[in-house]
Amino acid sequence: MSFPELISKDSIQKRVRELAKEISNEFHGEEVVVVGVLKGSFIFCADLIREIDTPVILDFISVSSYEGTESTGELKINLDIKTDVTGKNVILVEDIVDTGLTISSLVERFKKSNPKSLKVASLLYKPARIQHKVDIDYLAFEIEDHFVIGYGLDFNGLYRELPYVGIYNGEV
Ligand code: 5GP
Repeated sequence: MSFPELISKDSIQKRVRELAKEISNEFHGEEVVVVGVLKGSFIFCADLIREIDTPVILDFISVSSYEGTESTGELKINLDIKTDVTGKNVILVEDIVDTGLTISSLVERFKKSNPKSLKVASLLYKPARIQHKVDIDYLAFEIEDHFVIGYGLDFNGLYRELPYVGIYNGEV
């Protein structure tokens, strides 16, 4: 199955390299703990850390707030990180900031661990849908209000493997 392409594989790779450079310049030589928000950010995380030129500790957190294409408005932690982030430079990595519920809840949660610094990276951001204020320090692309799939993002578990970001135009 193929979908209308919103962001090509090449554009993603170029932008990921740019973000990684920003991160490397900012932390030059200091250790960063990259926390990927599963499952959607796993490909973005994998590409990003391979371009970051500063020591990286990788961890993952799994949360769910979505059923189908609509937010349930609640955040559930399915799997927590193993790393103690107190005094560490933390970068939370999201696939997409939609209402902002997930990332704003995670930021509040991580602040309680007193990290040295706390940053947010996101592949995508849909400004039209935002409900919870959130500062994205490293943003790859701002997009219109489409439900998107590919490059880690799914529709009911499918299409994460697509190398581009596409607009889901199938049955909901
Ligand atoms: P938020 O909490 O910001 O409303 O939503 C964040 C999560 O919702 C994302 O991590 C992602 O899992 C899911 N999500 C929001 N919009 C989309 C979309 O357009 N496509 C997909 N596949 N997931 C989305």
